[in-house]
Amino acid sequence: MLPAELLLASHNPGKVREFQRLFSPYQIVVKAPYATDQDLVEETGSTYWENARLKAVHVAKSTGMATLADDSGVEVEALDGAPGIHSARFVSESAWENSREILLRLMDVPVARRGARMVAVLVVVDGQGREIASSQGVLEGTILTFPKGQGGFGVDPIFSVDGTTSLAEWPAEEKDRWSHRGRAVRQLIEICGPPPAGLG
Ligand code: IMP
Repeated sequence: MLPAELLLASHNPGKVREFQRLFSPYQIVVKAPYATDQDLVEETGSTYWENARLKAVHVAKSTGMATLADDSGVEVEALDGAPGIHSARFVSESAWENSREILLRLMDVPVARRGARMVAVLVVVDGQGREIASSQGVLEGTILTFPKGQGGFGVDPIFSVDGTTSLAEWPAEEKDRWSHRGRAVRQLIEICGPPPAGLG
């Protein structure tokens, strides 16, 4: 069973907003007290799961609170799956610079070979850092030839599900319905069940 309150081991405002929306139907409150990277552990793992686990355990042990961590990334087929787990720091810490780098590397790649997927792995641990559950979600799509839209975060402006619109142009609820993160949250609820009624 999932706790009615989870700390989020992230300072990424885009992730915070999405998790608060995604867990609210289940009466689970997601709190994000972390303002800077200094509060977080270095991501030295070699998989999404290892990194999510490192982040969750570190925050749980320093706060004593049940913690949720997400490690996610975009995998571009024509780049042999890069940037993958390195998405947040591909060429810099700037989402725009990382997106521009992906576009530059795909400059001569035709539409038919611009396949990509977004992956999110979630790990929830209790206040002692013991794993409660983990889940994974994938969203298949393509990389557009130029950025579009003002919404979302990260590579949303260059990632498309229908080949035309970017995720940054989609209403938040629509992204939640299809996204890697939305799928991973619903899988987590399926595995654990929501908290008992009245606790949320
Ligand atoms: P993390 O914070 O180490 O998990 O890295 C997440 C990175 O993956 C972000 O900085 C983005 O580049 C990419 N990413 C993951 N999920 C999304 C998403 O939902 N939209 C856009 N970019 C995403």
